[in-house]
Amino acid sequence: MTFPYTHDHDRSSCRHVNEKLMHLAEPFQLFLQRCVSIDLEVDPAAASIFAFAAVHDDARPPILAKKRDLVIALDRLEAEATDGVHLLGHNILRHDLPHLFAMRPGLANVLRSPIDTLWLNPLAFPRNPYHHLVKHYHDGRLQAGHVNNPELDARLVFQVLRNQLAALRQQNADQPDAVTAFHFLATRMENSVGFDAAFREVRGVPAPDPLAAQKAIARLMAGRACERRLEQTLNRLSNPQLGWPMAYALSWILVAGGDSVMPPWVRAQFREAALIVRHLRDANCNGPDCAWCSERNDPVRALSRWFGFDAFRAEPVDDMGRPLQERIVDETMRGASVLGILPTGTGKSVCYQIPALSKFDKTGALTVVISPLVALMADQVQGMARAGVSIGHLQHAIPGLTSHAFCCFVPSLWGYG
Ligand SMILES: [Zn+2]
Repeated sequence: MTFPYTHDHDRSSCRHVNEKLMHLAEPFQLFLQRCVSIDLEVDPAAASIFAFAAVHDDARPPILAKKRDLVIALDRLEAEATDGVHLLGHNILRHDLPHLFAMRPGLANVLRSPIDTLWLNPLAFPRNPYHHLVKHYHDGRLQAGHVNNPELDARLVFQVLRNQLAALRQQNADQPDAVTAFHFLATRMENSVGFDAAFREVRGVPAPDPLAAQKAIARLMAGRACERRLEQTLNRLSNPQLGWPMAYALSWILVAGGDSVMPPWVRAQFREAALIVRHLRDANCNGPDCAWCSERNDPVRALSRWFGFDAFRAEPVDDMGRPLQERIVDETMRGASVLGILPTGTGKSVCYQIPALSKFDKTGALTVVISPLVALMADQVQGMARAGVSIGHLQHAIPGLTSHAFCCFVPSLWGYG
């Protein structure tokens, strides 16, 4: 596109306006042109690269190499890689870069601002359905539909990043505190210049300082987490290693209660993320003034929330005169190991259903119930399904036993409560 105004003394501002117009015409185009997307094919047995592609998001020719001309290709990449270039890839930080730097250590000095689309994905697409190209339930790899074509894979990453930037920009318009928090949290670790550039592109401003970020997180978590636990967690954020786990924890909490799960690769690579969720939402602070804990960690409130009753059955009671149902639910919600023995017809199922529903709602945890009473469990599964709870079951005859083993799962909830 050419800007029609060509007066000599104003050329630089013309160029500036031109860039702005291009920016409007094609979102993120200028930013994406500063990225080089790479994909390596690595022989896992020998841990050596056997094919490699580096592509731009425009007409510039790609760098493609098979084993015999890898050295020439890496020479070209090193020549093209300047300080302003972001090396882009899917799982590039834990996979591609270590292999690349092992083969060509000099690249580590120039490629210091990588962007990993795998790491950005749970922040950009926390809600199920996730990004269609990213296989959440496996290892977060791209669903390429072909094998061993590094050029196509590298080009696909541009599509993923473009979608991620658009999703984050929309999220920034809808819920600016979330993206402000992500910007801060995703740029705590070393070599985070690339992520900083991506979030600047989305937000149009530099990363917030720690105080502004903490305020944004506190506003976000109001009514979604225990205030005391949040304060403890915020105090730990001076540890840069907690940045990404905290970002993933916040991102999941913002969509909690639906059928979104924290991706397995996040749980494996950022173990703190799930622990932070549990700490923020499922570790009762017992503070009488804590709105979250008195509502979400209280067995009677939970009974009312999930089943609409004001109190547990008055009989039977424990030694202190407290209804046994309530005692069992309370202990189970606190994470204790419990053996509850109740007479027939006194409401045993509530004792595991409430903790299961509560746990899932707070942390996304799956509960497995194992029972020999096939007919009763089938009835309960139907009842839960009618109430809007997403539930699955398996049943299996065990040789030598007269009854059947029966498992029922409570993996997710749909518009319940
Ligand atoms: Zn609390």
